[in-house]
Amino acid sequence: LLKKYVSGFPQESDLEVVTNETILLKVPQESNAVLVKNLYLSCDPFLRVLMSDLAEPIYIEGFHLGNVIRGFGVSRVLESGHPDFKEGEYVWGITGWEEYSLITDTEKIFKIPFTDVPLSYYTGLLGMAGLTAYIGFNEMCSPKKGEYVFISAASGAVGQLVGQLGKLKGCYVVGTAGSDEKVELLKTKFGFDDAFNYKTEKSLGVAVNRCFPNGIDIYFDNVGGAMLDAALLNMRANGRISACGMISQYNLEEPEGVHFLVKMLTKRLTMKGFNVIDHFSVYPKFLEVVIPYIKNGEITYLEDKADGIENAPAALVGLFTGKNVGKQLVVLADE
Ligand code: NDP
Repeated sequence: LLKKYVSGFPQESDLEVVTNETILLKVPQESNAVLVKNLYLSCDPFLRVLMSDLAEPIYIEGFHLGNVIRGFGVSRVLESGHPDFKEGEYVWGITGWEEYSLITDTEKIFKIPFTDVPLSYYTGLLGMAGLTAYIGFNEMCSPKKGEYVFISAASGAVGQLVGQLGKLKGCYVVGTAGSDEKVELLKTKFGFDDAFNYKTEKSLGVAVNRCFPNGIDIYFDNVGGAMLDAALLNMRANGRISACGMISQYNLEEPEGVHFLVKMLTKRLTMKGFNVIDHFSVYPKFLEVVIPYIKNGEITYLEDKADGIENAPAALVGLFTGKNVGKQLVVLADE
């Protein structure tokens, strides 16, 4: 439950885990609701935004004090009043951060199409984060062989796939991450050409320039702030910037300014923001592209699994200090 509206960095104590054994969940008669057992919960940075005391909804309604928070998850259908979902089937989509949920907004859940891959992948690689990577990189940046690609928060849920999509397109790919362990993973597990730990560099602009002496064609921005400035300084003429996320800004009272916007002009850059919720119609095409790569081992994936609902608050707030190594999710039950 949301215990306290968040301002600044979220804390575990902003959430509360409670047990209530007296609720008997049933699909009401004549309703098209679906009763599910939640198996995996996805920890996503956007949940932080919904934990604030929002004057008005940003794109989804914010959470209310004392209510169960909601986000993406993977669930098994226990009982269904909806013709598209049958008992025993698996779904992914918006569910409650609880062991069982009665889902009434069934337009926000999707039947899991392939069950011969780990079902937890639908919290990330084959769910919202994966689609975000595909839309923001393949569709919006039109990467070409030989182009120079830079990715921030590169070892996370979105970044690790963007990097691998870049390599599959024949690009030169460099990523940043907040620990030496993550930097090593980028270079060894995910096949990045280079990577650096942004927390130990004296100057981000110098570090980016060291990795891209001839400049960047595509910057996939997951963090905003100082890293966006460092990328702007190093863009090539006609470069593209995918404004996917700005996690360095979400907990600040006053967002940092961007100093080198003038590069947009002098380098004739294109920068485009997007929200994956506008692109769910592309999901089948995304699966067609990505599933074969996963099955033949050309795309690999790293998950960071917290165990049990009691560890869910720590897992969620850990995103904002970089505690997660790979896609952070919470395991609630066996498949
Ligand atoms: P991640 O799995 O990458 O987890 C978040 C990571 O961000 C942390 O592990 C940490 O990694 C990094 N981070 C945290 N705080 C900071 C900071 N102050 N400065 C720099 N890096 C920081 O998350 P996702 O892959 O799920 O999301 C990545 C970005 O994409 C987010 O900004 C998110 O909001 C955005 N997003 C946008 C969508 C859209 O539709 N536009 C949809 C989904 C996500 P490290 O150790 O490297 O610092």
